[in-house]
Amino acid sequence: MSIVGHLINGENRTDATRHQDIFNPSTGQVSNQLAIAGKATVEEAIEAANAAFPAWRATPPAKRARVMFRFKELLEQHADKIITLIGEEHGKISHDAQGELQRGIESVEYACGAPELLKGEHSRNVGPSIDSWSEFQPLGVVAGITPFNFPAMVPLWMYPMAIVCGNTFILKPSERDPSSTLFIAQLLEEAGLPPGVLNVVNGDKEAVDTLLHSPKIQAVSFVGSTPIAEYIYATASANGKRCQALGGAKNHAIVLPDADMDNAVNQLLGAAFGSSGERCMALSVAVTVGNAAGDALVAKMKQAMTGLKVGAHNDSSNDFGPVITKQHQEKVVGYINSAEEDGAKIVVDGRNPKIAGFSEGFFVGGTLIDNVTPEMISYKEEIFGPVLQVVRVESMQEAMNLIDAHEYGNGTCVFTRDGEAARYFSDHIQVGMVGINVPLPVPVAYHSFGGWKRSLFGDLHAYGPDSVRFYTKRKTITQRWPSTGVREGAEFAFPS
Ligand code: NAD
Repeated sequence: MSIVGHLINGENRTDATRHQDIFNPSTGQVSNQLAIAGKATVEEAIEAANAAFPAWRATPPAKRARVMFRFKELLEQHADKIITLIGEEHGKISHDAQGELQRGIESVEYACGAPELLKGEHSRNVGPSIDSWSEFQPLGVVAGITPFNFPAMVPLWMYPMAIVCGNTFILKPSERDPSSTLFIAQLLEEAGLPPGVLNVVNGDKEAVDTLLHSPKIQAVSFVGSTPIAEYIYATASANGKRCQALGGAKNHAIVLPDADMDNAVNQLLGAAFGSSGERCMALSVAVTVGNAAGDALVAKMKQAMTGLKVGAHNDSSNDFGPVITKQHQEKVVGYINSAEEDGAKIVVDGRNPKIAGFSEGFFVGGTLIDNVTPEMISYKEEIFGPVLQVVRVESMQEAMNLIDAHEYGNGTCVFTRDGEAARYFSDHIQVGMVGINVPLPVPVAYHSFGGWKRSLFGDLHAYGPDSVRFYTKRKTITQRWPSTGVREGAEFAFPS
């Protein structure tokens, strides 16, 4: 068993105030120990990042980008190792881990365009012999705090862009599956990043609070659950920091009566159960319009779910793996129990899956629940497990009202053949990322990712163009070099 530690000023460190078990969720066994950083270790990382900032800020964007080009190559070269590390600690099946890594690499590719992205804006002759331009300067030391469900991708949403913009960075990964995150950060050092530009500290609330209260941290990017996102946003903002805090979700898919039902079932299957439903874009609620659509969807889904294969991360014939911890397994089962107690119908029950050879693993099988209503706790809260709930309504407007009334607004989708209905839906729905017959409308790396309502606290979305704005501050310069011809006397009013 090894100790998973930190990366501070280019050095691998294992200092800790405590240690915490890291599990292999497929076997249910402890696989590694995590070194939990105390305040002093985090402060050392902040000092290292602060000291590295002036030289990194002065490094030309093209040179910063060159490090990212090498980083991308290393990520591809070491893909197998990264996929294994993700599988061992997260439980994700290898092809899913590969998809996660690919999405992370795409954010690195976007960051390779830094010289173009940082060009700024220029206007000549805004007044007589006066030119004006805006440039985008780095903020200084920025921090990222990330969740367990995408240990490779979500950190890669953050630091490649922050770093190519000229900032230095402290990453606090999830304490549940930190090994792939740390390994990837070490690859960036190998790609030629100067020591101190990227630092990784593993830890928990103490480490996070040290970051939130440090006057040297200029901005915080957070991805995780809504209660913590709200806390991070409130604390960081109260301490004068720029903050974007992405939270939880409850993503609904509307199934209209004219939808291609076989296609909708296929799409929903992957989007509800892929990665054990532990995706903030997972489709966890199907809202069927009209009873015929409801009956057809539930019957076809029940049939399709007989083919679902849940099992260990290292068997690529499985569709999805375990959930992250024993506690989370109990929580997901608790939501299924509560739906049943509230009168919903458990059509496919995944509460006790038997996985040969993995009896201690944290598995929950695919679960389908019909006749769910908006008052139920299991509907209101994010389950974050392989559970698809079906809510039946009579009209598209009723379905849209349901989505709009929900506290979360991350992603949504409509299955239909009616272009007019789809257009109305995408125009009016109060959700940040919308799919039309696309179940997981995760924006590509050159757009930006973010939900509405209590799925995101802050103004700017993650990665893509918004990240250039988030990780830089605009400075606007207005310049005149007076010549004899334009030399003027004092002016006491704005020129008109
Ligand atoms: P989490 O909120 O428990 O943890 C996220 C991070 O916050 C971790 O690094 C953790 O160490 C830290 N943290 C936890 N408790 C804290 C506290 N009291 N004070 C300070 N820091 C604390 O989330 P999770 O369980 O790791 O991830 C799952 C959640 O993340 C789900 O709700 C999911 O929807 C959400 N998520 C959202 C997005 C998005 O883009 N909106 C993406 C991925 C995951």
